Amino acid sequence: MPSRQLEVGIIGAGIAGLSAAIALSRSGHSISLYEKSRFRNETGAAIIIGPNGTRILSKWGFDFVKAGALDYSQMRRIRADTIEVDSEEFFTGVQEQYGDRWLLFHRADLHAGLKDLVEACEPRPQIHLGSPVVDVDVDSGVLKLATGEEVRKDLVIIADGAHSELIAKVIGRPYPVSKSPMSMYRFLQPFDKVLAHPEAGQFYKNQPPGFTTFYKTEVGRPGLLINTYPCRGGELLYVALVHPTKPKEKGIEGWDSPAELADVLADAKGFHPAVQAVCEGATDIKVYTQMWRDPIEHFSRGRAVLIGDAGHLMLPTHGQGASMALEDALALQVLFSDVPDADDDNAVQSRLQLFDKLRLPRVSAAQTMSNKMMGPPDKMIAEVKRYYTGPIPGPKAKTFSKEYNDFFFLYDVADEARNLRQRQ
Ligand SMILES: Cc1cc2nc3c(=O)[nH]c(=O)nc-3n(C[C@H](O)[C@H](O)[C@H](O)COP(=O)(O)OP(=O)(O)OC[C@H]3O[C@@H](n4cnc5c(N)ncnc54)[C@H](O)[C@@H]3O)c2cc1C
Repeated sequence: MPSRQLEVGIIGAGIAGLSAAIALSRSGHSISLYEKSRFRNETGAAIIIGPNGTRILSKWGFDFVKAGALDYSQMRRIRADTIEVDSEEFFTGVQEQYGDRWLLFHRADLHAGLKDLVEACEPRPQIHLGSPVVDVDVDSGVLKLATGEEVRKDLVIIADGAHSELIAKVIGRPYPVSKSPMSMYRFLQPFDKVLAHPEAGQFYKNQPPGFTTFYKTEVGRPGLLINTYPCRGGELLYVALVHPTKPKEKGIEGWDSPAELADVLADAKGFHPAVQAVCEGATDIKVYTQMWRDPIEHFSRGRAVLIGDAGHLMLPTHGQGASMALEDALALQVLFSDVPDADDDNAVQSRLQLFDKLRLPRVSAAQTMSNKMMGPPDKMIAEVKRYYTGPIPGPKAKTFSKEYNDFFFLYDVADEARNLRQRQ
């Protein structure tokens, strides 16, 4: 049967929205992306993408060299006060085990690489910057722009991020984020400056790229920690200091509130001088309060579907938020690869129902594992089992252990989506 081209409206051009544009364009649909910002303030931060995500990027022809991606090759935990190395783990054979690489990116480079892919799509998706969508009628597919203009789409992808207001259109109620008691200062240091520093350089010289994490308390206990890793081909060192939220940080909602070096250094006061030196001279520091939501009951309603953080905001525990957005996009690519060429309103809805069936168990499990990892393990596992019936890591498994890596990385969303379609 010939396939019908859908008019698709995507709200939000973050990692999720851009990925959905690539995916649905590759399935032959006509895409309009509406982004409220002008892409001016790309956030200074780094991100790790596991093989379940990089496999999708590879499939789309992502330029990893241009994006300065580095292989995540090791994880070291170092006591922040004594600089004794607590643990050291090397990740080898990732490509052989999981079919693709485990990579560190500057977030802006990942975003720019996705934008390049969007612009290379044929027909080229239209990107409307500075175009907030203020309302969606999920049944008719009508988007209302801030200008008052209304546009009708066959399929509406809601990818408006953590503070999604449009989530209410799908689940029938507003769903504000929950805030963790922890916040994070983050900044990027020129890596050559850190390497050349007589004290700070010792942690990074001759080391393969990966996490170097400094703990104030014993491993596994909540408290102060600094996570660092290189990005942008080794030009920059990403530094993230997790700390209990200060009273003056309580009202912070977004990603990009400015912070003072004095606050960072005050938190790092009990740390060894060599660890403090990693933060020395930092500029353009941002602070962010960690946020999450519990799983929702369905992602789709009528002609609309929630993807990315809008649908499944999670804490960054397993570094899987963006990879889940990439999985969402590839699921849409497979599920909408051929839509019956008849004017059947149900065609879109039935594919979105398949999306829910495919994505809810996997994503709800990932969310629960990420949000509840610091609580009692048995409780977390019991909750995961409410959503997901397949094998899951045991209660003693640690973040980034083989058990978690197998759970996240062996999953191939394209295979799962094709299998689901065949079973219908
Ligand atoms: C500290 C931290 C560390 C993380 N580390 C990792 C990691 O290592 N690995 C990983 O995979 N994930 C990580 N994540 C998660 C990851 O960053 C997110 O899951 C991912 O960026 C979500 O992308 P998104 O496109 O859904 O949302 P966003 O990137 O927030 O994009 C939403 C877009 O929608 C736009 N928008 C909002 N409202 C409207 C509107 N009404 N109309 C039009 N446009 C609108 C916004 O301007 C924005 O551009 C981390 C998250 C945090 C907070």
